[in-house]
Amino acid sequence: MRTTVVVGAGAAGLACAKRLRELDADWRIILVDKDRDAPYERPPLSKGLSGAAKPNGAAGLVDASIELVSTAAEGIDLGAHALLTARGAIAYDKLVLAPGSTPTRPHWANDDVLSLHSHADSLRLRDRVRDARSVVVVGGGYVGAEVAASLAAVGVEVTLVFRDRALFGSRLGGDVSALLAAVHEEAGVSLVAGAEVERVDGRFGEMTVVLSDQRRIDTDLVVVGIGSVPDTGWLSGSGLLGQDGRIAADACLRVADGVWAAGDSVSWQVVDGVPMTSAHWTAARSQGRQIAEDIVSGTATPFLELPYFWSMQHGHLVQGIGAIDAKVADVDTVRGGTETKPGILTTFRVDGVPRGAVAVNDPRGFLAVRAELDELALASRRAG
Ligand SMILES: Cc1cc2nc3c(=O)[nH]c(=O)nc-3n(C[C@H](O)[C@H](O)[C@H](O)COP(=O)(O)OP(=O)(O)OC[C@H]3O[C@@H](n4cnc5c(N)ncnc54)[C@H](O)[C@@H]3O)c2cc1C
Repeated sequence: MRTTVVVGAGAAGLACAKRLRELDADWRIILVDKDRDAPYERPPLSKGLSGAAKPNGAAGLVDASIELVSTAAEGIDLGAHALLTARGAIAYDKLVLAPGSTPTRPHWANDDVLSLHSHADSLRLRDRVRDARSVVVVGGGYVGAEVAASLAAVGVEVTLVFRDRALFGSRLGGDVSALLAAVHEEAGVSLVAGAEVERVDGRFGEMTVVLSDQRRIDTDLVVVGIGSVPDTGWLSGSGLLGQDGRIAADACLRVADGVWAAGDSVSWQVVDGVPMTSAHWTAARSQGRQIAEDIVSGTATPFLELPYFWSMQHGHLVQGIGAIDAKVADVDTVRGGTETKPGILTTFRVDGVPRGAVAVNDPRGFLAVRAELDELALASRRAG
């Protein structure tokens, strides 16, 4: 019997395993994950703090005859076609690497500074929040902003501290930034922009965040969400990693003979040779599914999907697609929505050509721009 081994039961690995089973009843599929709670989805973790149900994703795997092995992958023997794990070697015919990322821990983070990446992290955060009146969230990215919103919703006093001069300002542009900042402030979140944390003093219940300009913020709890790094340390020395620590793949997500990579931990070549990465759920899932299709059909398909993300902050939906960087693009904005749900659709143009878009509370407008961007991307690839 042919065996596909998938490392990581996250968005990419799980989608790959499930799609493989949909397409072929006979493959033996083994999903390896070091997180005992896997599989579960990460996006809901930051979008609310209520309910801490134990994930039950494993139940669906049994029905699909997908074997789940709870152990850490420790290396690969490419010559012997074997994944090396803490519980011994697992032979594969095809191997899919989808180990995702791990949150960045700054030098100033002691044990009482929480991160939010796993189900276990979310339980710990919920536990601590029960005894906290105030929380400082460090990091103005999507996870930081969503955590701030979720904490404000349960009545905790929240301060969101971030480096950018305006919330999401340098990437999403002034209009979206102003709207999101207003949404947070109306919900009671205090925004501290342009801030660099120098250190955190004290322990849970009595902590002080000291900024590099010596401002001090007293708080019960500190949560940090300042990004993540690929969880690929176990592959060092394998020859599969690029300089950025990601698994280096070709345009079809292939890494070596019979080996593919997907999700947050991969860097793949777009058709014009530029390396591309993603830290979003949709790309991870699509890559996993596409790899499954290539494994079954024996084809090699370039991964061409434009990067897409969504975020939910205080009930306001943010969606983005394509190349979004207000520092290098011309930005134009159309406003809409209602008084309680103001809408914005911002398009990012380079040399007059739309390259990306962000919408707040405008799923319809977003859909139209997305279709246009998909069409343009397809045309330029055909031309290339
Ligand atoms: C709190 C939070 C909220 C998010 N919200 C959004 C959102 O709203 N929208 C969006 O687009 N994206 C969101 N993301 C990002 C999204 O979840 C990721 O892009 C996506 O999960 C990446 O999928 P992946 O399969 O590459 O990695 P993951 O989903 O992280 O899965 C990787 C799996 O590999 C396992 N693993 C790692 N190393 C090993 C090893 N050596 N051996 C065995 N197993 C291993 C890990 O335990 C993990 O289960 C969010 C992320 C977080 C943390």
